[in-house]
This record gives sequence, C-alpha cells and structure tokens, in this order.
Amino acid sequence: MNNRARLTGRVIFQGDPGYETARKNWNPSTDRHPKVFVFARNARDVSNAVRWAEANGVPIRARSGRHALAGDLSQVDGGIVIDVSEIRSIELNRRQGTVIVGTGNTIGRIVKTLARQGYLFPFGDSPTVGVGGIALGGGIGPLQRTIGIASDNLIGVEMVDASGNVIQADSNRNSDLLWASRGGGGGNFGIYTRYKFQVVRAPSTATVFQIQWPWEQFEEVTREWQRWAPGVSSRLGTYLEVGQRNGGNAKATGVYLGSKATATRLLAPLLNTGQPQSTVIRSLPYTQVVDFLLPPDPVLTQQISFQFSSAYADRPLPDDALRIMRKFLEKAQNDQSGFFFLNWGGAINNLDPSDTAFFWRDAQYYVEWNSSWIDPSEAEYNIELANWARKKLQPYIYGSYINVPDQGIKDYGAVYYGSNYPRLREIKAKYDPRNVFNFPQSIKPARRREDD
Ligand SMILES: Cc1cc2nc3c(=O)[nH]c(=O)nc-3n(C[C@H](O)[C@H](O)[C@H](O)COP(=O)(O)OP(=O)(O)OC[C@H]3O[C@@H](n4cnc5c(N)ncnc54)[C@H](O)[C@@H]3O)c2cc1C
Repeated sequence: MNNRARLTGRVIFQGDPGYETARKNWNPSTDRHPKVFVFARNARDVSNAVRWAEANGVPIRARSGRHALAGDLSQVDGGIVIDVSEIRSIELNRRQGTVIVGTGNTIGRIVKTLARQGYLFPFGDSPTVGVGGIALGGGIGPLQRTIGIASDNLIGVEMVDASGNVIQADSNRNSDLLWASRGGGGGNFGIYTRYKFQVVRAPSTATVFQIQWPWEQFEEVTREWQRWAPGVSSRLGTYLEVGQRNGGNAKATGVYLGSKATATRLLAPLLNTGQPQSTVIRSLPYTQVVDFLLPPDPVLTQQISFQFSSAYADRPLPDDALRIMRKFLEKAQNDQSGFFFLNWGGAINNLDPSDTAFFWRDAQYYVEWNSSWIDPSEAEYNIELANWARKKLQPYIYGSYINVPDQGIKDYGAVYYGSNYPRLREIKAKYDPRNVFNFPQSIKPARRREDD
C-alpha cells in the first residue's frame, strides 16, 4: 500500500507533519486515527482518492467542516479521509439568482460573502459548520421560515461516485440524486465537490434579538416560547436555549426580517414572560445581522465532547415532559449541556414531505439536547444521560434530524427519513450499489431481486 504517488492534492499520512491537526474535529469524541487525509483541491483529486481507496481496500470518509456530531462519520480508524475544505470557490450569478459554491466553504464564509452582495443564505448557529455536510442533511436555522432550509434551496450538485466518476445532478440530469441530496444526509451517495443554490435578495436591515432569563424560570419561558414561536410571523425565526442548572440560563435568540417596532410588538408575549435579566432588540444592517447571529466558533481549540440527540414535536411539552427536562438539566455536568428549540412552520411547509428527502415538515418546533464532558472518563455518564432523556421524552416527540444524529436510535431509517427511506434506498442502490460509502446509520442499498 505505498502507492502514495497516485494520490493527488495535499496528502497527509499518519506520522507526517500536520497529521494531529488534520484529525482534529469540532467534537473531540469523533477524532479517529485514519491512515491518510487527502485535502482535495478539485473533483479530480477526489476521484483519484476514491480509486486509491478501492485499490487498497481502505474505508472512505468524506469531510468538509469537521462538525460531525457523532463518531465514525467524517473520520474512521485506518481509513482515508477525503477532505474538501480547500475547495472554496463562491460564484454568485445575480441574473439567475443562483450561487455555485465549493463544498469546502463554511456556512459563515458563504453567508457573509453573500450578505455583502445583498443576498440571503440559510445559516444555523455556528459559522464554521461546513456547507458540505449541513446542506445534504437539511440545514436548519432562523431563516428557514422565510426561505426554507438549506437543502430546499439546493438546485444542483457535482459529486464523485464510488467508482471515481464525476456526476452532475440537477432537475434535468440525475434528478433522483438531486432529490436524495436534499435531506438524505452526508456521506451516503458519494463525495460532493460543488453545490448550486437559488438565492434571494436580503433586506438592507433586519432586527435581531436576544432575551435572557434566570435558569429558575426556564419552565415558564419554555411553555410560553412553545406556545408563541410556531405561530408568530414567518419572517421571525427564533431558538430557545436552556442550559444546565449549575450556572445555566434560558435564552431566546433570533431575527425578524423587518422593523424593530414590529419585532418588539411580535415579541411582547415573550417579553412579558417571567423577569428577563437582559433584553437586546436591535435593528442592524443585514451584514451585521449575520455577525450577531454567527459569533466565532473555532474548530481547532474546541475541547468539549458532546452526545446529542434530536427530534420534532407538534405540541408544547406538557408538565410531565418539563419535569424530565429539569431532571436532565440538573444531572448534566458541563456548562455546554442543555436543550435547544427552533420554531418550525412557514416556508418549510411550502414543500411536501416527499418533494425532497427531508421529510419532517409538519412539526411545531424542533428540539435537541446534549450532554457534554471534557474528561473521557465522564463520557459514559453523559452518553447515558442523553439516552435516558430520549427514552423518557419519547411520548412527546417524534423523528430525528440526520445532521444531529443519535447512534443509539435503532430503526433509524424511518426515524430520520419517515416514508422517504425506501426511495432513498433505491437511489443508494443505483449510485452506490456496492455500499462503498458505508458508516454508522448510513442508507442501506435496496436489495436487488436476485438477493431475495
Ligand atoms: C457547533 C455546531 C453547531 C451546529 N449548528 C447547526 C445548525 O444550526 N443547523 C443545522 O442544520 N445543523 C447544525 N449543526 C449540525 C451540522 O449540520 C452537522 O454536524 C453537519 O453534518 C456538519 O457538516 P460539516 O461539513 O461541518 O461536518 P463534517 O464532519 O465534515 O461532515 C459531516 C457529515 O457530512 C459528510 N460530508 C461532509 N462533506 C461532505 C461532502 N463534500 N460530500 C459528502 N459528504 C460529506 C461527512 O461524511 C459526514 O457524514 C451544528 C453542528 C455543530 C458542531
């Protein structure tokens, strides 16, 4: 296996300088010891790496922004990581209202580049998440009620398949692959090198807000947020974060694509709940709105490990569920642990669940929770705590978000993809029949007749 010469791009084998930095993911519990990293500069480098992996019988992982939340997704022991983070072009076409981006861009780089040129692009709560991973699984965040999730805006892809061939997909060519790429999740069909998105104009200004309450008021705040947020104007996107008991608080953050006066009126039910400790409501040029909502989130210095789980809900959590939430927050040990809610509705419902691979469109809100640690000896306690919460909350929630996966979920195809899973398996069988791109909770190829 020493045919390193056939690998092109920036190649770092185990033992080479830069290896330790190369294997640093955002969540340290996902760091592995791959045999080699290839930092591809174009689709040809990716194709060479895929062929090299096959010739050498080495498992492959694709990587873009290093934000995978669970293990063995973007790194694997003894494997090859094909990292696209150096493919970073951004080409805006104002006439068409489209942008073509290299899949190695971070969300923050695209959002800020386009904001300066007067366009909206979907984002979540971290600027360093890679567009490579987030767009394939969905891409949820505070603009989703206005322009849909990131994958709703994805209209074309360039992908290297399991044989090393470069494939284009859009509404005319390989449209089944485009359908699957809009919510089917990272890593399943091939390694993507370029995405084409539709984009719309940004307002020149918008209103951001952040309201913070003492932790002790979280039940009252969560109740009101869950009643209010799903039905408020679709130009208002908001998430509610509730931290652990020891040192945490409750905090609602978001954006209204309109005036401060209207935002303040829309926020009244929330502002009148409990006794906020601090309230920020600010009208800003759109370029500063994205800075406010995407504060720095460096990858290489992030030391805390996380166990996440995610779901959807179609009614406010009743008191029994709030008691489970409280117990979880009392038991969590690290100050990054907590609950996160994001309001659903608006443009997300412009598409039917079967229009793209992203299935869960009818919820009232999205919910995720995580339990975090620094010392590896605390991993087990925290993983069990997050699992405990999922089991206890199950009567009040459904589904799960593939970008915030939980490898403890058993019947994962239906949980992540609902009734879209059988079609995803057919498309997997067409584009990756040998299941080369195979990892925990990956889409299994549909069985061919002769297999039955
Ligand atoms: C701090 C933080 C905040 C987050 N906030 C949000 C949020 O607000 N909204 C939201 O929707 N999600 C959010 N996420 C989840 C995020 O969408 C996923 O973790 C996503 O998969 C990360 O993509 P990545 O490219 O950064 O990660 P990577 O670790 O590089 O990859 C993640 C997955 O995508 C695959 N992948 C990456 N690039 C490619 C490619 N070019 N071709 C094929 N497969 C590829 C990988 O193989 C892997 O399975 C957040 C995650 C973190 C850590």
